[in-house]
Amino acid sequence: MDTTNTFDVIIIGGSYAGLSAGMALGRSLRNVLIIDAGEPCNRQTPHSHNFLTQDGQTPAQISSIAKEQVLAYPTVSFLEDKVSDAKQTNAGFEVFTERGKRFGARKLIIATGIKDIFPEIKGFAECWGITVLHCPYCHGYEVKHENIGIIANGDVAFEFCRLIFNWTKNLTLFTNGTSTLSDEHKAKLASKKINIVEKEIAELVNENGQLQHILFKDETKHPLKAIFARGGLEQHATFASDLGCELNDFGFIKVNEFQETTVKGIFAAGDCTTMMRSVALSVSGGNMTGVIANKYLLEEDFG
Ligand SMILES: Cc1cc2nc3c(=O)[nH]c(=O)nc-3n(C[C@H](O)[C@H](O)[C@H](O)COP(=O)(O)OP(=O)(O)OC[C@H]3O[C@@H](n4cnc5c(N)ncnc54)[C@H](O)[C@@H]3O)c2cc1C
Repeated sequence: MDTTNTFDVIIIGGSYAGLSAGMALGRSLRNVLIIDAGEPCNRQTPHSHNFLTQDGQTPAQISSIAKEQVLAYPTVSFLEDKVSDAKQTNAGFEVFTERGKRFGARKLIIATGIKDIFPEIKGFAECWGITVLHCPYCHGYEVKHENIGIIANGDVAFEFCRLIFNWTKNLTLFTNGTSTLSDEHKAKLASKKINIVEKEIAELVNENGQLQHILFKDETKHPLKAIFARGGLEQHATFASDLGCELNDFGFIKVNEFQETTVKGIFAAGDCTTMMRSVALSVSGGNMTGVIANKYLLEEDFG
């Protein structure tokens, strides 16, 4: 392969985790290529919270400042493209993109985030990140003491109610069909005046993502300020597992405390590795991958 197309490290995914890895590596004088498909999971949310110095900024503002600072290091390049495949080679790894490019690298960092799978409820996707919220640490403060719903069922619903209760006491649980909560959990929720509504949901009626009310299949309505809910999660791509990186029981890439995957030379950070989703934790994990990838390169070169 053309050596101009070979890097010390290729970072797949150029959002918070990937850019943070890029900064550590750029400052370590490493030749780095960041390849990014440009679709971070929080792109629809109007404001991002709970990240020091950037509280309340838009997700794009945070990543554009980060990108500008990372690309100020001359050994770091950024490519807008999507990685379609990656293979192990004698020298390290080869990475292929959807636009037909091929690059080599001694080490790989995977920072591709995670894909949210929405339940089949009309209006859910439009409200996602705006008035359908997944995390109270990110968005709970902005709806504190408001009339809030939770869409969930079973043990998850109970845990969710307990989690949200300190942000608002004006809470209703929507199980979207027959409740599967235990009698003990139902009694506890009743003691906290959390109503359980078992009616099936037809639609989250909204205007540009601003929730107006839940419309049920029996055509009744329930007005709400916002809803906490979570969908399913899956990896954006299979190349990590195709390369042999093990996933844990929840489908996240397994990493140790140094963000090393189960395959030597491949590191991973951010939402693809953990259900603890936050900008701060993604930046932290990304920084660690940069440091550890550089440590291996130093050891190999210095002997
Ligand atoms: C709706 C919503 C709101 C949120 N609000 C907050 C908040 O207020 N505060 C907070 O701290 N956290 C918030 N989070 C969590 C936070 O956004 C994530 O933890 C964070 O974005 C994870 O960073 P990441 O770099 O791992 O992944 P992401 O930011 O999701 O970025 C992954 C990047 O990799 C790219 N990619 C994927 N596959 C490929 C591929 N094959 N090739 C190339 N590139 C690829 C994607 O296009 C994307 O650009 C929110 C999350 C959601 C879903």
